[in-house]
Amino acid sequence: MSDENIPRRGLMLVLSSPSGAGKTTLSRRLLQSDPGIVMSVSATTRAPRPNEIDGQDYFFVTPAKFDEMVAANEFLEHATVFGNMYGTPRGPVMAALEAGKDVLFDIDWQGTQQLKQQARDDMASVFVVPPSKAELERRLRIRAQDSEAVVRERMAKANNELSHWAEYDYLLMNDDIQHAMGKLEEILRVER
Ligand code: 5GP
Repeated sequence: MSDENIPRRGLMLVLSSPSGAGKTTLSRRLLQSDPGIVMSVSATTRAPRPNEIDGQDYFFVTPAKFDEMVAANEFLEHATVFGNMYGTPRGPVMAALEAGKDVLFDIDWQGTQQLKQQARDDMASVFVVPPSKAELERRLRIRAQDSEAVVRERMAKANNELSHWAEYDYLLMNDDIQHAMGKLEEILRVER
């Protein structure tokens, strides 16, 4: 992470949540419905899931390449999540903000804290929560892309992630996707 501050241009909209709260669906819909906002594509050392596309969902890189990017100060923020490294490449974000675009980030609470130190007023952070822990577990299971061990691990870690909700500007309950989408669009309107 560098000490440089990001000059005020486009808005940085951060979405965080435990896995399974519906954040991915919300970000996809927002990107489709709003041409003024672009997604920040993170780099990760995690293995791609079957439906994921390199360069679109993530830049899938080796740990050695990730370390190289850290050393070259190529990340706005980076953190270890579930044993894998994740980072936000600086270049595309800066280019989008300078072009007056808003940028959407799907990052965890550690990354949000790092971004906040640089962005200050140019950033709005939203923490997406499921209606209940039982519903979160149900969603993780029907997703069925992760192994049972991963589901259990993520469920356990959800409790820790949920404890960071108060560090966010907005708390968004995803009870119903249409309803949550409406609230997210309203947050963006207000922040703009
Ligand atoms: P997943 O492996 O399920 O795609 O993501 C796991 C977690 O890593 C999610 O909470 C997601 O928000 C977070 N994450 C994804 N990309 C980044 C990033 O660039 N930086 C940080 N700090 N977290 C990230």
